[in-house]
Amino acid sequence: MQKSIKIFSIVTILLAGAAGYFGYQTYLQTHAIQSLTGGLASTRADLASTTAELGRVYGELGNTRIERDGFELSYRAEKKRLDDLSFQVQNIGSMVGVLEKLQKTDPELIAKYSKIYFLNENYVPDKLALLDPQYVFKPERGLRIQSDTKQYLERLLTDAARAGVDLQIISAYRSFGEQAGLKQAYSVTYGTGANKFSADQGYSEHQLGTTVDFTTKALGAGFASFEGTPAYTWLLAHAHEYGFVLSYPKNNSYYVFEPWHWRFVSRSLAGKLHEEDKNFYDLDQRVLDTYLVSFFD
Ligand SMILES: [Zn+2]
Repeated sequence: MQKSIKIFSIVTILLAGAAGYFGYQTYLQTHAIQSLTGGLASTRADLASTTAELGRVYGELGNTRIERDGFELSYRAEKKRLDDLSFQVQNIGSMVGVLEKLQKTDPELIAKYSKIYFLNENYVPDKLALLDPQYVFKPERGLRIQSDTKQYLERLLTDAARAGVDLQIISAYRSFGEQAGLKQAYSVTYGTGANKFSADQGYSEHQLGTTVDFTTKALGAGFASFEGTPAYTWLLAHAHEYGFVLSYPKNNSYYVFEPWHWRFVSRSLAGKLHEEDKNFYDLDQRVLDTYLVSFFD
């Protein structure tokens, strides 16, 4: 009996010990879970506040972007307005330049003359200048040319000389009176055939001051045979570079062929005529007039 009590007591003690141990373990585990749960909750809270903060930052960033885009838009609009304004100012500026040029350039300089349209007999170029005598046949005559045309003609003559081309001027500006006298002289010599020499058409062009008759040292006054000279060939190839065109080319339909008679019509127009193989008198006056603004460019 005593033995069975003893065993019971031992078992009870063991059971109590085990219960205590398991209880303690459970306590420990519960406590750990609780503390973990607490930590988790605080981490969640932290995360939530971080997310909220992030949201706020994103919001601000969004606003900043909107503001920036807004600034950019208004900056662009303002820039466009200034660009437009500056374009307008430039346009006005260049328009003023164009008007000034047009005002200074005599429209007669680009006019076509014919048997029915002459330059007024009282017309005198606004300014005339003496040609460098070294290029003039019989320099003592003191040939004159419209002042703004002078530089183009002298450049042509200088370059021709450099290229070894014999080229001289035998006639340039002629007043109405001089022309009338010349025609009379020709009429005396050649009778009614004088019209073929002393052009009714070329007449106005010489009175303009922008037209010259070329010859060579070798030919002198015999410039009627100018067509056969290397000078004529050189002019056909290069005169347009200096703004000169042959007023009455071979086989033209408006006047006799005058290989020596060249008129300054601006470099842009002479270049266009050369390029398109056209004659000055073939173009419509309205087309010619568009070249007046760049006449002395
Ligand atoms: Zn002439």
